[in-house]
Amino acid sequence: MRLLLLALLLVGCAAPAATPTPLPRPPTAPAPVVSPPPTKRLSVVATFSILGDLVRSVGGDGVELTLLVGPGQDAHTFQPSPADGAKLARADLVFENGLGFEGWLEELYRASGSRARRVVVTEGIAAQKGGPAHAEGEAEAGHSNGELDPHVWQDVRLASHMVGRIGEALAQADPASAALYRANAERYQQELRTLDAWVVDQVQSLPEARRTLVTNHDSLGYFASRYGFTILGTAIPGVSTEASEPAAADLVKLIGRIKSAQVPAIFVENVANPKLMERIAREAGVAVAPPLYTDALGPPGSPVDSYPKMVRHNVSTIVGALRA
Ligand code: ZN
Repeated sequence: MRLLLLALLLVGCAAPAATPTPLPRPPTAPAPVVSPPPTKRLSVVATFSILGDLVRSVGGDGVELTLLVGPGQDAHTFQPSPADGAKLARADLVFENGLGFEGWLEELYRASGSRARRVVVTEGIAAQKGGPAHAEGEAEAGHSNGELDPHVWQDVRLASHMVGRIGEALAQADPASAALYRANAERYQQELRTLDAWVVDQVQSLPEARRTLVTNHDSLGYFASRYGFTILGTAIPGVSTEASEPAAADLVKLIGRIKSAQVPAIFVENVANPKLMERIAREAGVAVAPPLYTDALGPPGSPVDSYPKMVRHNVSTIVGALRA
């Protein structure tokens, strides 16, 4: 008897006799959520602005993105502060270029105590060596300084590789949104295929003899390889801006090469002091083109605040200055 009573009580608890009629949904109530509920936003660090823009394009609202080296800043000579260590300590994921671009990162990461997963986005790319090895006739002469060239993003197809790496890493870190990240990456890669074709098309309008570049540091090696340019020389030797004043004899040689190649213009970069290039241009009797955005984007809201805009700006500037 007591057992029966208990059973009745339990049933009573599970299914109340008088089920209240559910209130009608007010007309302003949001539609029931059918998509998976948003998961925790990933805290993501990108080491520099160009990479950050690729991460933002793939991660969208799913990631909370923090940059270490901001727009207009030079990653080669960057000096991290304790605040940068704190950014790493808070992160779930750190996206880095690799190939020696962020020489300061290893120590900063260690000191920060961060447990973030590090993703080297250039992994899987056959890296080129820097130095004036791109210059015609010098490829076999052993002029390459042997350093790996980190400026992979200047070849749009290689930027697309980076985007694929970003998509996979985000998908692994946040499996609930994996399909979204992969779809974003694929859509963006399609946009980059169109952009790459546009660059090839623009360069076609330039006579082959004019496809010659002189820049501040060796930042356009991958661009030159992909789009058929020759790097005639750089003001600062090497793939980093860290080098001090170039030797006077090297500058004289460079000026001689510029004169004999009859290039109409040489290029300054947004991350480098333009004074040296201006001096070289004066002595060689050539023009200085508007700055190229080589290692960093322009500030937000500027015409060069995204990777595709940066590529379009650079290519238009190069083609315009060399066709003149
Ligand atoms: Zn650089």
